[in-house]
Amino acid sequence: MKIALFFLFLFQFCVVSAQDAISDSDMDSLDQLISDLLESSKKEQKQEKKQEKQAVQPQKNEKTKKQEVKPAKVKGKKLIVIDPGHGGKDPGTISGKLYEKDIVLKLAKKIEKLSKNYKNIEVRLTRDKDVFLALEERAVIANKMGGDLFISLHANSFPKDRNIGGMEIYHLDNTRDEYANKLARVENKISENASLLGTILVDMDISYYVGDSLDYAKEIGSGLKKDLKKYGVKLRGYEKGALFYVLVGARMPSLLFEIGYITNKTEKDLLQKDEYLESIAKSLLDSVSASKVK
Ligand SMILES: [Zn+2]
Repeated sequence: MKIALFFLFLFQFCVVSAQDAISDSDMDSLDQLISDLLESSKKEQKQEKKQEKQAVQPQKNEKTKKQEVKPAKVKGKKLIVIDPGHGGKDPGTISGKLYEKDIVLKLAKKIEKLSKNYKNIEVRLTRDKDVFLALEERAVIANKMGGDLFISLHANSFPKDRNIGGMEIYHLDNTRDEYANKLARVENKISENASLLGTILVDMDISYYVGDSLDYAKEIGSGLKKDLKKYGVKLRGYEKGALFYVLVGARMPSLLFEIGYITNKTEKDLLQKDEYLESIAKSLLDSVSASKVK
């Protein structure tokens, strides 16, 4: 597998090297990105072997047919593609009977429903039911729809310390931040396609969107901080970047939004309340609607 990956890399690298338009700084950041990706890919493979025995089998009735994705851009409106993380055989993080895949889907649907109140916003979802989508498919769907902003929704967990809680917003970056990289490895766990490496090499312009992604993160983050103050939920950070596979390949500003810790009692309770999810949805839509990012 590693050898195959290496040759894929080598082949893609040769193809890319042949193009004249790539600057040295592009190549440097690309090298960094690739080495980070290969490193986390190696660790994931070890991890996967360990977990193979416990792997959850796909449900028999799970749909494998891919639905056709159509462009969804409406003139004069900003198209937000909301990606409820995980789904189907991949439950995400679990606490008791609460599954990450279910909470984020519920929130996504609320965002979609509430968006009808905003004249300048259109919302589409990458999945609207409990189905499995590979990480790399998600950005592809957003690209096909012609999104202006891609937001992947997740929930966090930290069983070792149930006092830990709060929200986090990340954008795609090859930061060296230890925590962010560790989290990225957790969220990147299920990826069934090595062609992602090719995607990165073809998508030389991911850094082009980093500035806008960070601006959106700041606007949404400071909005949530203000709007959710009454619930006592912390904003742990919204200016961090990390190498999240799900964001790689999105040709638009993209964010990964960790909506809270389901291992934290207060947040677990809140995340099961419609009113709380609606507050998150409204705050997010208010920020995007008023955003300075074009
Ligand atoms: Zn997740």
